[in-house]
Amino acid sequence: MTDKYTTMSIAQNIEKIKKELLAFGTKLVAVTKFKSIAEIQELYETGHKIFGENRVQELLQKYEILPKDIEWHLIGHLQTNKVKFIAPFVHTIHSIDSLKLLEEVNKQALKNERVIKCLLQIYIAKEETKYGLDENEALSILNSFEVEAFQNIEIVGVMGMATNIDNFAIIKEEFKSLKTFFDRIKKIEKPNINLSEISMGMSGDYLIAAKEGSTIVRVGSAIFQ
Ligand SMILES: *Cc1c(COP(=O)(O)O)cnc(C)c1O
Repeated sequence: MTDKYTTMSIAQNIEKIKKELLAFGTKLVAVTKFKSIAEIQELYETGHKIFGENRVQELLQKYEILPKDIEWHLIGHLQTNKVKFIAPFVHTIHSIDSLKLLEEVNKQALKNERVIKCLLQIYIAKEETKYGLDENEALSILNSFEVEAFQNIEIVGVMGMATNIDNFAIIKEEFKSLKTFFDRIKKIEKPNINLSEISMGMSGDYLIAAKEGSTIVRVGSAIFQ
């Protein structure tokens, strides 16, 4: 990150980012992980209400304290045994990486009489990462007969994390590969599968992602710096 934003406020940062994204029609999930309630409150007061957290524990603490009209997105790895804690309120889960997890989200959403939006996390980075599906695994979930019975989830798209490096050529290729995969699968249609979202892009690369067809970016540090 450059220093030129360091004197800007949260309100100025988010306004700048939203303005940049406007041309692409890309939505912004403001990532609030590690941020204090006071900082998030300041963000909330700008009128932005779509927030993302990567850990269940932190998400629960913040959900309790902050206003209830916030749309919460879980963007980090989710363990099956923790789904029940967030199912009463979570809007979208970006990190679905197994059929078993999807089944549990459906079960807990049903208990809460809700429908939870889900994105399949696709492995696109060159580096070793623990989480995410490869394209064949994602396809087998989308085409599985089990998924058709999951009436309390809606699979709305895919999510990807680029390699954590400064090489924009590599990052761009990774985003392109996710967009290509999305274009391949987007015609799959079932009552609970409606593929319209590509969640890719973070503080360092959200504009590259938007240019490559991202519909949702997940930006944290560029807002709070
Ligand atoms: C932290 C995080 C982000 C945002 O990262 P920044 O570099 O702070 O914008 C996006 N996605 C996931 C999954 C994250 O954990």
